[in-house]
Amino acid sequence: MREEEDPALPLAFDVQTRDQAMGIATTNPATGETLKTFAPLTDAEIESKLDQAQQAFEQYRKTPMQQRSAWLQTTAEILEREKEQFGKLMTLEMGKPIKGAIAEVEKCALVCRYYAEHGAKFLADVPAQTDASYSFVRYQPLGLILAVMPWNFPFWQVFRFAAPALMAGNVGLLKHASNVPQCALAIEEIIQRSGFPTGVFQTLLVGSDKVAALIADERVKAATLTGSEPAGASLAAAAGKQIKKAVLELGGSDPFIVLESADLEVAITTATAARMLNNGQSCIAAKRFIIADAIAQKFEKQLVEKFEALVIGDPMQPETELGPLATPNILKDLDHQVKECITSGARVLTGGQPLSARLGNFYPPTILTDIPLGSAAEVEEFFGPVALLFRVADIDEAIRLANATPFGLGASAWTTNDLERDRLIEELEAGAVFINSMVKSDPRLPFGGIKKSGYGRELSIQGIHEFVNVKTVWVK
Ligand code: NAP
Repeated sequence: MREEEDPALPLAFDVQTRDQAMGIATTNPATGETLKTFAPLTDAEIESKLDQAQQAFEQYRKTPMQQRSAWLQTTAEILEREKEQFGKLMTLEMGKPIKGAIAEVEKCALVCRYYAEHGAKFLADVPAQTDASYSFVRYQPLGLILAVMPWNFPFWQVFRFAAPALMAGNVGLLKHASNVPQCALAIEEIIQRSGFPTGVFQTLLVGSDKVAALIADERVKAATLTGSEPAGASLAAAAGKQIKKAVLELGGSDPFIVLESADLEVAITTATAARMLNNGQSCIAAKRFIIADAIAQKFEKQLVEKFEALVIGDPMQPETELGPLATPNILKDLDHQVKECITSGARVLTGGQPLSARLGNFYPPTILTDIPLGSAAEVEEFFGPVALLFRVADIDEAIRLANATPFGLGASAWTTNDLERDRLIEELEAGAVFINSMVKSDPRLPFGGIKKSGYGRELSIQGIHEFVNVKTVWVK
């Protein structure tokens, strides 16, 4: 079902100035209404929270693994029990369809259970055969870790950091995105209620202007940021200046390659889901669709049909498949990118204009094709429901085009040919390659990127080893 445009109603980004002035606030992206504002912490309040975190760490680092694991299991139980309420909070603050929001809470429970069950094993001493009497590697917590997080998966991004960090004996400080303050406070409360000692995980309601000072504080030992490239560069510079460890999970312009032998029907259905996930605002959403010439026409036609059939509307309704973008600025940026792309010669197959019939930040499912070689659209991240289509003659051209971006987060490729599959796995420049599947995160596998998509890994055994001292022990 498509919305009709009504030019009499204001565009969603007319409310931008008011939103920006709000600072840390809950603004419903489906209506543009600001529901609650929060005063940022004062310097004295920040100091008191850092002090509390440091004191908590000194005790918490000595708690047995079994105890930490039990607290994490309780966190999982709370998440599962109250998933609907937390899901609604996310949908209210950033507009994701409610079904996906509830599924996100379930996935947070999964990551808590994963580290509760496997953390002790991942952090156990590792003996090494040397000429010492005995020698081994011991993993120890670093201390206070600052997590700067984005709004797009307000619970998942935080829990995939917090579960391994707390299991390893670290203490977490969350600086969440300014548009999801209630989610940030809810997460702090969930961790408190699970039994973790006071101060082990705290939310700092502060703007991004406080991040460099927090990293410079000697009590803060490392930082992680999930978000855009400029924010990542800024955090990495601050951490580099202080010689502190940083992990960066940044943007992507993931390719979705479909070669001639692929199961086209499944590929097209998955392409729609992979682009529309989270209203198109996922770092690992498929963004550039690279299609073999022989099947391109069919792919284009069927993708248009799928996009035009999507149910757009109130994200609180279970039948909604595409809700609003999270903020007026995201809508404005996306609209600008699409217009530039069209001006440079691209052709619109569907969509291409903001849905001005609604007050919220609604943008329609959009497909652009005939994108000129060398245009910005080839290399920029489009953070919304916009698919960019490219046609290629063969696998060589597909791999070349897929790799021709500054990013390297994930790649999805579709083929039933074994030789093609092996080449795609080997030659695609990305932190993850998924064959005949969309890219997704899974607690059991590492997650992260290369190139401008960042460095370091979250999830799996790699994720829990990012924020630990890998201590070599030699006894003669
Ligand atoms: P963003 O503007 O970079 O914000 C992310 C976080 O960084 C927010 O908490 C933000 O605080 C903070 N921040 C912004 N500028 C900063 C600076 N100069 N110094 C320190 N902190 C700063 O990103 P976004 O628009 O929320 O998120 C979208 C981007 O995140 C996309 O590029 C997406 O691909 C990427 N992302 C990557 C992953 C991944 O795992 N690789 C996952 C999700 C999203 P304020 O809100 O207060 O500005």
